[in-house]
Amino acid sequence: MSNAPTFAFDNSYARDLPGFYVDWQPAKAPAPVLLKLNDALARELGLDTDALRGEAGAALFAGNQLPAGASPLAQAYAGHQFGGFSPQLGDGRALLLGEVIDRQGRRRDIAFKGSGRTPFSRGGDGKAVLGPVLREYLLGEAMHALGIPTTRALAVAATGEAVMRDQALPGAVLTRVAASHVRVGTFQYFAARGEHDQVRRLADYVIARHDPALAGRDGRHLGLLQAVAQRQAALIAQWMNVGFIHGVMNTDNMTISGETIDYGPCAFMEAYDPAAVFSSIDHGGRYAYGNQPLIARWNLARLAETLLPLLADDADAAVAQVMPVIDEFPALYADRLLQGQRAKLGLADAQPDDAQLVQDWLALLQTQQVDFTLAWRHLADAAAGDAGPLRDLFFDRAAVDAWLLRWQARHAAGVGEGQAEAMRRVNPLIIPRNHLVEEALAAAVEGSLVPFEQLLTAVQQPYIEGLQLARYAEPAPREVTARYQTFCGT
Ligand code: AMP
Ligand code: MG
Repeated sequence: MSNAPTFAFDNSYARDLPGFYVDWQPAKAPAPVLLKLNDALARELGLDTDALRGEAGAALFAGNQLPAGASPLAQAYAGHQFGGFSPQLGDGRALLLGEVIDRQGRRRDIAFKGSGRTPFSRGGDGKAVLGPVLREYLLGEAMHALGIPTTRALAVAATGEAVMRDQALPGAVLTRVAASHVRVGTFQYFAARGEHDQVRRLADYVIARHDPALAGRDGRHLGLLQAVAQRQAALIAQWMNVGFIHGVMNTDNMTISGETIDYGPCAFMEAYDPAAVFSSIDHGGRYAYGNQPLIARWNLARLAETLLPLLADDADAAVAQVMPVIDEFPALYADRLLQGQRAKLGLADAQPDDAQLVQDWLALLQTQQVDFTLAWRHLADAAAGDAGPLRDLFFDRAAVDAWLLRWQARHAAGVGEGQAEAMRRVNPLIIPRNHLVEEALAAAVEGSLVPFEQLLTAVQQPYIEGLQLARYAEPAPREVTARYQTFCGT
């Protein structure tokens, strides 16, 4: 073997937070094969990519040979799942190996998903299967390329083990990189047990890690809540502006860092529809596209509840501190959303009627069932003087023509190539289309990673026009989207 892979681990979670996790070892994989290494991310982390390939990489990323300095542990957390509280979830099939400081000085978690049972597994087998693991890889890279904060995949290893789902499927381990894995549910775990000193330790830990400007200050715990509100408002606004539907916004899937996490039943919307839901288990549409900002606020309120005992001895006084943060979330979000929408419209300044202009545009897309991504993208073409591709998306062209006149009038100095170019930098041509994702995953399970690699390449350059990418820009046939369902559990 060549030089052993080295990670410069510095494991603050293990060191600073005893009682927040269980030390645990990954299961051994019978026949590990490294299927995918994220070279760019590995380099970002300061890793030697050559040392991570081949047998050494397979042994490492399947969990058979841990890198020196790892302190594998299963994190404890709780969570509201579809509104109902589960006091103990935790890493049932994940392990935090440790943290490294990346080339830009940022602390990043390195974690496994699918590495076997832990004390938090409840009835589960602790495993992950190849299709959903590759799905998380693909969606995470797509979101990253779209400029949206997200956890990312560093590697995928096949374990050589058959994992039972509704049929036997190939087992795999995903290695995930995150700003941290602390969730709203992590706070809830300790708050629900009345362990307020632990909540305080956790809050101070995440302040040091994510909001160091607040460290040691009076009022820092309220400051943390405000910082999380800011990050989540910005994140959800970005999701909404690309048509991303997370699908399972339980409080254990909402990070304190503001990164998107846990790509389970997520999907990108095709025709614009606030009621769009793809998850097979989301019968009530709780996590529908249009509900996401409301759910983010609801989750934020659950975080706020855990912090109350830290804020004031008097419960009413503590509630009075957090309520403005919760109440202001919708405005905070609306502001971030509109900021993004203005950029999508090619507007460089703000006018009072902009929100109405966008609302009317979205209403048009909805009533005429127009593809969200292509509509925005072709609006850029309209800015460049070719409204044809945009008009072709609508059956009632008079309606879109009338709206286009208003949009043009709003651009007091006129629209042209300059606006078009700016718009093409924020309105993607390529998103991971659901039917193409499914096609790539099905091929991977059959043994070919070619479609996966091709799709990955396409979604990694979402703003670029190219003939070879045309297939990746096309929506699915409407019947396919109407029947499309996603499933929980990686
Ligand atoms: P998720 O749906 O991935 O957000 O997971 C929700 C909870 O279920 C977490 O506590 C997971 O660790 C746990 N879980 C999901 N799948 C499994 C599995 N196959 N084995 C054990 N625990 C699991
Ligand atoms: Mg989860």
